[in-house]
Amino acid sequence: MNSSLVEIDGSEGEGGGQILRSALALSMLTQRPFKLYNIRAKRAKPGLQPQHLMCVRAAATICGAYYKGGTVGSSVLYFEPGPVQAGDYRFAIGTAGSTALVLQTIYLPLALKGGTVSEILITGGTHTAHAPCYHFLAITWASYMARLGLHVDLTLIRPGFYPRGGGEIRAVIHPCQRLRGLSLLTSPLLTTASGISASAGLPESVAQRQARRLSSRLKAAGVESHISIEQWTAANPGTMAAIIFRQTPVPTLFFGLGERGKPAELVADEAVDQALAFRRSQAPVDPYSADQLLLPLAMSDDASEYRVAEITRHTTTNMETVRKFVDRTIILRIDDDKSGQVSLPARI
Ligand code: AMP
Repeated sequence: MNSSLVEIDGSEGEGGGQILRSALALSMLTQRPFKLYNIRAKRAKPGLQPQHLMCVRAAATICGAYYKGGTVGSSVLYFEPGPVQAGDYRFAIGTAGSTALVLQTIYLPLALKGGTVSEILITGGTHTAHAPCYHFLAITWASYMARLGLHVDLTLIRPGFYPRGGGEIRAVIHPCQRLRGLSLLTSPLLTTASGISASAGLPESVAQRQARRLSSRLKAAGVESHISIEQWTAANPGTMAAIIFRQTPVPTLFFGLGERGKPAELVADEAVDQALAFRRSQAPVDPYSADQLLLPLAMSDDASEYRVAEITRHTTTNMETVRKFVDRTIILRIDDDKSGQVSLPARI
């Protein structure tokens, strides 16, 4: 087994936190140490921020790693993993940093190397921008994982929005003996959708307006929908408007989030615009799942191939990060409309 140091320039490609999270996961999976420099060089506030540090600490906790450079603002991190230990862990981000992204850093090592069940409690943001929201995790991501043979049971204990966070999720991660590959090349024409319009700490009319906009825009595009309205309790006000396509091979969720001064209709429009772009592409895999699937599929010996609605820089960057740690061929085809196909030949 190759145990040499992996050196990664964090300013390459997408240049965000995903390079760090993927490097942590891949390091634990391959037991190779890494040095990451120019951390998040392409972000407005570069270097490690509290939510990234939480990912470093969570990874170090589950494998007893030795690391250097784990402070706020640090642009260099050295990480040397130890053996992964399943168990019950609790991680508190302390801000509205994404609970989903902490979970996505550690689930694969725990499932593949932990040997037994793990229960993880994470507090922070559950519905925040630029990250999977809890409902995406539970409905889309966990369904993809189950298809690969990896079972994660998720519970939303409390939602948490920007800026205070204070939300909490529980994930029970079952050990996985063998990860299966994935073949998803086609999707039926999507004619129906369900949806959730939720708000916390705001008048009921807000969630009602979001719901009306979701269904009227979907109807205009030829999609019949049923939207449920939910009232949540959270540390500070917030809203979510989500659309779920259950006709896709794996249920696929798109969402928009409220913020102060943003009209309810605009929150719904954010979800609808993404959902309709996905529907037009006729591809089975959404742009976000495309990058999140790369690590587990690279760890499977099976062949995989999937068509994606839009190939993002997160996907191309994650391919490069995977390649730094594992010797695995990943073939990418990008079409003129930015849709594309990812293929991983079987490992022999
Ligand atoms: P980064 O921007 O590098 O911190 O990475 C963000 C991660 O969050 C990527 O894996 C994205 O696929 C994921 N992500 C961002 N927005 C969404 C969304 N709306 N739905 C699902 N996943 C998302």
